[in-house]
Amino acid sequence: MAKTSNTNGLSTLAIHVGDEPNPATGSVADLVMSSTYVVKEKAGFSARDLGENTPFIYIRWGNPTVDGLQRKLSALEGADATICFASGMAASAAVFFSFLSAGDHLVISDVSYAGVAELARDTLPRFGIEVTPVDMSDLAAVAGAIRPNTRLIHSETPVNPLVRLTDLAAVSALAKSSGALHSCDATFASPIATRPLEHGVDLVIHALTKYIGGHGDALGGSVSGRADLIARLNVEAAIHHGGILSPFNAWLIARGASTLPLRMRVHGENGLAVAQFLENHPSVTRVIYPGLRSHPQHELARRQMKNFSGMIAFQVGGKVQGEVIAEAMMQLFEVIHYAVSLGHHRSLCFWMETDGLMQSSFRLTPKQEASYRDYAGDGIFRLSVGLEDAADLIRDLDRVL
Ligand SMILES: *Cc1c(COP(=O)(O)O)cnc(C)c1O
Repeated sequence: MAKTSNTNGLSTLAIHVGDEPNPATGSVADLVMSSTYVVKEKAGFSARDLGENTPFIYIRWGNPTVDGLQRKLSALEGADATICFASGMAASAAVFFSFLSAGDHLVISDVSYAGVAELARDTLPRFGIEVTPVDMSDLAAVAGAIRPNTRLIHSETPVNPLVRLTDLAAVSALAKSSGALHSCDATFASPIATRPLEHGVDLVIHALTKYIGGHGDALGGSVSGRADLIARLNVEAAIHHGGILSPFNAWLIARGASTLPLRMRVHGENGLAVAQFLENHPSVTRVIYPGLRSHPQHELARRQMKNFSGMIAFQVGGKVQGEVIAEAMMQLFEVIHYAVSLGHHRSLCFWMETDGLMQSSFRLTPKQEASYRDYAGDGIFRLSVGLEDAADLIRDLDRVL
């Protein structure tokens, strides 16, 4: 949770912050699994007694390996503080259940990660929280959805799976003028592409399972922001709801995060090469990639993204064509895995049919559904471009299209 005021570049910060040599042993790759710690001073039993300088007492309250990852992520996001959770879903749920109470209103992106959409649609109303899904790329719609009891606006950028962007500065300004917090899930961007706090966002959420861990071997989530907001999450969500990150996963994720700037460079280069190949392929009817001039928000992408990341959505015509090509991918791919998830060193591709996705999302108005279908048609392939040689990925795609 410590604040870092380091002025080094992101590649240096990613490697060194949180992985400082252990003063007792000189070791630089420590994994501490201890669930309890020998205490040298009097300590209370309430999480509310915890202060900035409280020593480690019990693992759910704090752990040196998790703490190191939290400091590394704070450095990458330019945040005061970060708190890690057992998954990206646990991080999102932590924000909703810590900053919303019965009678409050949530404005949320009408295209949100499926688990987040179902949580907001089915669970939050049971706790007396009102939820309005809006197209976050339509600022008038966001402004129109805000009510006197709106406490939180939750966006994603780019959104999973459409790769549609949210103008973070504009939505943050709307949140600020109405006294609401703005939380943003920037999993698709990573802090190398977009640092939401610099655009006025209050809380940035990541599924560490994706780009930040980057190797498909550890589940985790994080929330970064101002110290007072993270302290609240620490007591209510981490300590009392209990879904904290295991030190072993923190250790794996920190090792992945050390090479995040380097990996994102290649994800971005490969992403652009594959997106250009797809855009020129006769079987492909639409490619959505922020680095292409054809992306409807390319100008915003250039302002808000320092790297266009490796996430591509593409259409191949209607549902039948999509299903035929998905089948070909399962049979013929030699390099790319036909699998869900994203942000790994391996390339992953999955067919997402629009009717099916609508069932795991909000009940959209006809206008919202038209905007969704404008991007997705009857279905899209979500392609997470990995770190393999771009020519091999292109050959694999050419084989199935
Ligand atoms: C994967 C994902 C999540 C959920 O993360 P888990 O670690 O699987 O719980 C949340 N948001 C986005 C954008 C994701 O891609």
